[in-house]
Amino acid sequence: MRRRDMLSGLGLSSLGACTSMPVPSLKTYQPGRTYPPVQSSMQRVTRTVVGLRPYRPQGYRLEAEALGGKTIIHNYGHGGCGVTMSWGTSPVAAELAAHAAEGGPIAVLGAGVMGLTTALILARRGHAVTVYAEHLPPHTTSNIAGVLWFPTGYFDRNVATPDFLRRNHLLIRAAHRGFLPYVNRPGYGVYWADHHALSRRTPVAYDSLPGGDDIYPELQRAHENTLFGYAFMERFRAMIIDPDFYLDEIMQDAQIAGAHFIGTRLSGLSDVEALPEPVIVNCTGLGARDLFGDESLVPIRGQLSHLLPQPEIDYSYVAPTAEGVLYMFPRKTGIVLGGTHEMGETAMEPDPAQIKRMVEGHAELANRLSASS
Ligand SMILES: Cc1cc2nc3c(=O)[nH]c(=O)nc-3n(C[C@H](O)[C@H](O)[C@H](O)COP(=O)(O)OP(=O)(O)OC[C@H]3O[C@@H](n4cnc5c(N)ncnc54)[C@H](O)[C@@H]3O)c2cc1C
Repeated sequence: MRRRDMLSGLGLSSLGACTSMPVPSLKTYQPGRTYPPVQSSMQRVTRTVVGLRPYRPQGYRLEAEALGGKTIIHNYGHGGCGVTMSWGTSPVAAELAAHAAEGGPIAVLGAGVMGLTTALILARRGHAVTVYAEHLPPHTTSNIAGVLWFPTGYFDRNVATPDFLRRNHLLIRAAHRGFLPYVNRPGYGVYWADHHALSRRTPVAYDSLPGGDDIYPELQRAHENTLFGYAFMERFRAMIIDPDFYLDEIMQDAQIAGAHFIGTRLSGLSDVEALPEPVIVNCTGLGARDLFGDESLVPIRGQLSHLLPQPEIDYSYVAPTAEGVLYMFPRKTGIVLGGTHEMGETAMEPDPAQIKRMVEGHAELANRLSASS
């Protein structure tokens, strides 16, 4: 089994088009910086949130379908990387919709990151766009997300087709390009962090990162002096996206461009067919399971605990531990602790045992930093 395949189930790696390369003489990491420890304790937890990732083993659905007299463009099923892939798949969905609408009005179903991005693109192209959504930000799954820009955990390589993998490789690169203009733009909550993907084993060969190594600035692979003393580390600069800021801003951008928002729940295909627009983009995430009968959609439950802010933390990590994966993403408003992936689970109440595992696990990692400094 390839290393990246093994990691993918843990949400650590994409199964995108990767190239295996022999490991060159691996380097000793020379950070040239210090790592202030995360102060992880139960007293510093400000909130714990739960969300369901809309996962499809074959990958996201991005295609047109005829429904009665209407054209439906599907753009859903992005698993654990919908925010990451939003500027990859939404421009394609928007292009398909614009082509079908021939200048006419377009409906977008859903106001998570996919619906908002699609609506923004179409409104800027001059279409009359109406977004129909049961939940608007800040009440979408997209608001729950971490977010590290890294395409991972959204398909199973054993199920995805070669065509999907080829197209996905290109869309990853487009998605990366799409986010770059937002970095450090005031109000959008997008900024760079030093990211560290850690591994307990030194690989005999390594795969290129999803989309190609060249889109990961300052990429270094090292096996000595790694963060927390892991056997292997891939370190690069990655975008951190705070979805609470980002989604508010792009929703406002879509409204400024002319998109209208209507809060409503569509209970079945007859409701979809009754919409006045002849062209409809379906960005309902996990909702597509009931609305469009897609039984291949599986929820993957995730739980995040937020700690009080530590402005000095400008690095992130994903680390496998004996008790499961742990990840930490710094935001201006707090430190996000994560690391749960429960396939098929739908309970929306936070699990106290998982809060304890995360808080104690991250504290244990932070202790390793204190011990080595
Ligand atoms: C704990 C956790 C951590 C995550 N971390 C990351 C990360 O680090 N990076 C990353 O890229 N992604 C991450 N994700 C994944 C990301 O959140 C999802 O892939 C993304 O939110 C999917 O966006 P969406 O717009 O398709 O769906 P959603 O955000 O769920 O939006 C769906 C929209 O459709 C509407 N809708 C659904 N059904 C109906 C209906 N019947 N009628 C009307 N409206 C309907 C909803 O109300 C909502 O407005 C994480 C997810 C979780 C849960």
